[in-house]
Amino acid sequence: NIYKLIAERYLIQFLEKVKIEKTEAKVEINEAIFKKSSIKILEPGYTKYFKVLEDDNENDEEIEEKKENNLSKIPGGEYQIKINDSNFFIEEKETTAKKPYTEATLIKDLNNIAKYVKDPEIRELLKSKDKDKKDVNGSIGTTATIPGILEGLIEKGFLLRKEEKIISTDLANEYLKILPDSLKTPDSTALWWSIQEKIARGEAKLEDLTLSVLEDVKTIINSEHKTISSEFSTVKQEKEVIGVCPKCGEPIYEGEKNFYCNGYKSGCDFKLWKKIKVFNQKEVTITKQDAKTLLNKGTILITGLTNKAGKKYKANFKLEINDKYVNLSLDSFVN
Ligand SMILES: [Zn+2]
Repeated sequence: NIYKLIAERYLIQFLEKVKIEKTEAKVEINEAIFKKSSIKILEPGYTKYFKVLEDDNENDEEIEEKKENNLSKIPGGEYQIKINDSNFFIEEKETTAKKPYTEATLIKDLNNIAKYVKDPEIRELLKSKDKDKKDVNGSIGTTATIPGILEGLIEKGFLLRKEEKIISTDLANEYLKILPDSLKTPDSTALWWSIQEKIARGEAKLEDLTLSVLEDVKTIINSEHKTISSEFSTVKQEKEVIGVCPKCGEPIYEGEKNFYCNGYKSGCDFKLWKKIKVFNQKEVTITKQDAKTLLNKGTILITGLTNKAGKKYKANFKLEINDKYVNLSLDSFVN
């Protein structure tokens, strides 16, 4: 089958071309442009012998436009259109979500970014940047750099590949929320390119470009900062220092079940357990505040203790440290 496909394609080049007549109607009302086109096949050429599949990347709407309709019957020229009130109605419809990008459609869009630019001056700038390039109409990156940019975004967790689709992640959506607008639009690309053009014509200096970039960076740095929600933050919070290790002088941090010494890597075994047995084998809980007090003052007051006779009491306990364990030992009873 593959051989047959290649052989057919090869033969096609020797056959006659398809001759078509394309009719396009454009109606401009206020700023909105309504377009419709029709394609009439005048001579089928090679398609008489071989059927060629439509380009997979094109969406249904574009294929629809390639068919012949009544427009083909209207001779070319400018027409005055009068909208008949009785024929004119507004149909309410719901928009459908855009189809997810594939790598091919994403690259195509990155090469035609001008259509997403609201500022008409910048849109024209972007278009003129690529006026000599085929299939490119205001691009971000080049054919050489775009694949690398995509891979980088996938690697950093902003995009992911799902079958053939390329989908933005929650991290990417969260990141977009905090980015300043100037970084989210292709406007800077267009402005910087226009400076490069001026440099090429000798109307601007290299410094004009570097200064413009620096100014933009400064503005962004000085603008109000929004922070990414903590679940997406890859920056770990600074660990809180509970106190200083009585054994080696390194900081003490809070673990899940104990307070441990940062010097454990170099052999310090200081650990203060959060559940610890005191005096008459009663287990008490050492809170973060207790640990701070203990490490700072050397003693803590523990209340709510009961003696063997069932009498409640409170007492000061101190850290008892030896080679094998860290314990709390009775310092003094408190009335
Ligand atoms: Zn230590």
